[in-house]
Amino acid sequence: MPLMKTGAILKLARENGFGVLATNVLNYETILCSIRAAEAERLPVIIMYYPGYESFIPAEAVALLTRYEAAKTWVPVGLHFDHSKSVEQAMWGLRTGYLSVMIDGSAHPLEDNMRDTATVVRAARAMDVEVEAELGFVGRGLNPDDVNNPNKFTVPGEAERFVRETGVDFLAISYGNAHGDYISTPMLDFARLSEIRERVNIPLVLHGSSHIPDEQVRESVRRGILKVNVATEYFQTFYKGLYGVMKREQPGDTYKSAVEEIRQGMIEFIQAKMRVLNPAGFSL
Ligand SMILES: [Zn+2]
Repeated sequence: MPLMKTGAILKLARENGFGVLATNVLNYETILCSIRAAEAERLPVIIMYYPGYESFIPAEAVALLTRYEAAKTWVPVGLHFDHSKSVEQAMWGLRTGYLSVMIDGSAHPLEDNMRDTATVVRAARAMDVEVEAELGFVGRGLNPDDVNNPNKFTVPGEAERFVRETGVDFLAISYGNAHGDYISTPMLDFARLSEIRERVNIPLVLHGSSHIPDEQVRESVRRGILKVNVATEYFQTFYKGLYGVMKREQPGDTYKSAVEEIRQGMIEFIQAKMRVLNPAGFSL
């Protein structure tokens, strides 16, 4: 089927009590394995390009490959442009045919973040594209201050105002989550998540789901998270698969045989993540 809009995928998820996995991709394997896993689980998936991966693959190539693979499968596939750090970067995502773009102004003061988000929302509306923004700062899991300092977490009252005044479609929030590996086991602030959920009716997004214990991810979905981003653990799964193949040193192994084996591990990883987000076992 053609690509499905992020909002439509998240609406389906809300109506059926599951969270949607959004995977960062940087080559054909990471796109393909996400879609194969979605088929096996009979669930939608959102493919995301991070505009810092140009040295691995161009944004245009991810858009083309994802569109091509989506057309060949029956599960809904979304195409999202992740973490634009400026209005100009978000425009790149818009021009390149992404169906939703993120403008991440979370490192800037609230008023600047709101201004940039509203600017991107206006441009995106004209092109029928949806917009994700971030409020509160989702930093790096290896930086203790990003994980433990509640001053970096999303303030529920600010979230309400932010959404009302910018018209944004989806909101990434900070409640103890962070990108990459974590310095210690994360302890998400669920009371904060619930309070944000009460004040904000648009879909909420969890960034940095890698290495958050499954039970906390599940509880996040129960309390209203609809889109869950994963990158680090997915890429680590690729690396572990590669390491396994290399360690074995089997005569006759080639790039092709290695890729087949690595793909299988990646598909299984994505399937397992999808099950964590789908406590009621919904399937299409
Ligand atoms: Zn992120």
